[in-house]
Amino acid sequence: MAQKLISELLAEARRPLLSYEFFPPKDDTGMDKLQRVAEELKPTKPDFVTVTFGAGGSTRARTLQVCEYLREAGHTPVMHHLTCVGTSREELGDIVDRVYESGIRNIMALRGDPPKGESRFRPHPGGLVHANDLVHFIKKRHPDICCGVAGYPETHQEALSPESDIFYLKDKVDAGGAFITTQLFYDNKSFYDFVRKCRDWGIRAPIIPGLLPPISLKQLRRMAAMCQASLPPSLVRDLEKAGDDAENAETIGIDWTVRQIKDLLKHDVPAVHLYILNRSKAALAPAVKECFGR
Ligand SMILES: Cc1cc2nc3c(=O)[nH]c(=O)nc-3n(C[C@H](O)[C@H](O)[C@H](O)COP(=O)(O)OP(=O)(O)OC[C@H]3O[C@@H](n4cnc5c(N)ncnc54)[C@H](O)[C@@H]3O)c2cc1C
Repeated sequence: MAQKLISELLAEARRPLLSYEFFPPKDDTGMDKLQRVAEELKPTKPDFVTVTFGAGGSTRARTLQVCEYLREAGHTPVMHHLTCVGTSREELGDIVDRVYESGIRNIMALRGDPPKGESRFRPHPGGLVHANDLVHFIKKRHPDICCGVAGYPETHQEALSPESDIFYLKDKVDAGGAFITTQLFYDNKSFYDFVRKCRDWGIRAPIIPGLLPPISLKQLRRMAAMCQASLPPSLVRDLEKAGDDAENAETIGIDWTVRQIKDLLKHDVPAVHLYILNRSKAALAPAVKECFGR
């Protein structure tokens, strides 16, 4: 049976939605862990869940498998991520058709990152160049698929300027992107400034903040460097103080995320997307559940 569109959920919602992002595991042990986490998270009733698309190899086919597993486990609707990396139009068409045939009606349309060791994205000779091309491609093939697109509160690392990044974001929305989910950020001010600029540029689509609860100083620094997210000095200081105490560091990270969520909810966000990285601890924290009345 075809699933509900996330755009419909957003339009009908009387309260901010909650979504989780999973990634397809590399092996059976990872799959066992994902299944356990999905089960643990069921009582928190996320409004939708999403599954990332790998840079290459066997995990790509697993995206649809994991989507189907999560749907069978009762997590609906599910959103399948898709990128243009190393893939021809024909292959993209096959993937989109398979997703459609399985009843999934939500796709996060992305360009994808350059492969490891390469600094620039090089499109497949028979493929697509940018996420807006992918949105066009999907909507032409299956107009009833709801496409989400990515936004960057602190500007995408390859963008010529913050303005050009928002200009191209508008292109993605105009191509049919029904909502925007943002890259992670640790300082809400960057999100509020971004939303204001998007509205000034005439982007009307719902903008969903994406949050990654930090679990250690090392992870925080790695993610911030990867996504060019600025690091609030007080968060860094607290995590430094935690030293090797992993449990304390995780609690500090969850507390930070709870403060971010509470503030975002006061600013009328349509939803909060948690990058849970196949872990349940942050989403199960009572303070997080309380924010969403779970
Ligand atoms: C919510 C979210 C989910 C993600 N999920 C995944 C995933 O599952 N798998 C994965 O591999 N990666 C994922 N990513 C990472 C994403 O693939 C990278 O950030 C990638 O580098 C850019 O993808 P994009 O879709 O934003 O690209 P685009 O929108 O194509 O933008 C890429 C760059 O090109 C510029 N640009 C855009 N359009 C044009 C144009 N027409 N002409 C010239 N310049 C242009 C933009 O300003 C930007 O600098 C995700 C990111 C987010 C925020």
